[in-house]
Amino acid sequence: MQPEPPLLSVDGIKVHFPIFKGVLARRQVGAVKAVDGVSFSVDRGETLGLVGESGCGKSTTGLAVLRMLATTAGTIRFDGTDITRLNRAALRPFRRRIQMIYQDPFGALDPRMTVGQLIAEPMIVHNIEPGRAARDSKARDLLAMVGLRQDMADRYIHEFSGGQRQRIGIARALAMQPDLLICDEPVSALDVSIQAQIVNLFQDLQSRFGLTYLFIAHDLAVVRHISDRIAVMYLGRIVEIAGREALYDHPQHPYTQALLAAVAIPDPDIEATRPHIAVQGEVPSALNPPGGCRFHPRCPRAVDRCKTEEPVLRDTGRGGETGRGQSVACHLA
Ligand code: SF4
Repeated sequence: MQPEPPLLSVDGIKVHFPIFKGVLARRQVGAVKAVDGVSFSVDRGETLGLVGESGCGKSTTGLAVLRMLATTAGTIRFDGTDITRLNRAALRPFRRRIQMIYQDPFGALDPRMTVGQLIAEPMIVHNIEPGRAARDSKARDLLAMVGLRQDMADRYIHEFSGGQRQRIGIARALAMQPDLLICDEPVSALDVSIQAQIVNLFQDLQSRFGLTYLFIAHDLAVVRHISDRIAVMYLGRIVEIAGREALYDHPQHPYTQALLAAVAIPDPDIEATRPHIAVQGEVPSALNPPGGCRFHPRCPRAVDRCKTEEPVLRDTGRGGETGRGQSVACHLA
């Protein structure tokens, strides 16, 4: 039997922001290479975690998949269709099927609308539930689905806590009956106890509705809990991608090892044997990334070759529990 194709397939995408100089005769003098050749795929019902420090390009990657940012190169295929260059009208059905969950989903929403109206609004835009009574009823059902009381539909967003707001944001996204949720740091602004509740809610909704997640976070502990596979980004590139257990138990890239060194692992046997690597300094600018391996100025294992030769992401032959390999971009892996 043929394996089912991935729901989302991203191939070599680049998002470069040009830098111009001059007022009248503007000329491009450079480009910020926020995303610079990123490839990955996500199967139906799977969760891919995308991790890295602030500024590594993970949120930009999410916005590019949503087509809210233009790609400079590469292709994005969703459910078998190349959506990279679709015009606005052709993109419309895909816009409904791919939804984003933000860290603070209500910064841009009208505070004068009730929560019920906020959840019903996308149903009107996408003509999902034409009748008003049916929309109101569905909005209340969605509130119950995300663990809130139905009568909260009549209240306003400022009356809710951060965790409740995130539940409402999820209900609003679910109103569009999506297939893929791009979750951009959805719990990083919440208390730790609330974070666990929201992550559990994501998992519950995934098993109920077969949702697929691209879960973006800087917190490796959160990503571990929810992801099937994890991709680690550094300065616009993926440096390692592997199944959850393979990545956490046997990280191969020095950057992944450094990120994990900052996270406590409850198993004392693994804790005693795993490498503890600390990286120095700040992430270099994406305007002028280092030559060779982009990580070499901070890498404690760098050799001469690393300064001149860029490592490619290649399968190390270690299968991991997903059977889809562990790929690493490092000369020494
Ligand atoms: Fe470090 Fe060299 Fe590997 Fe880059 S290629 S991660 S600099 S050892």
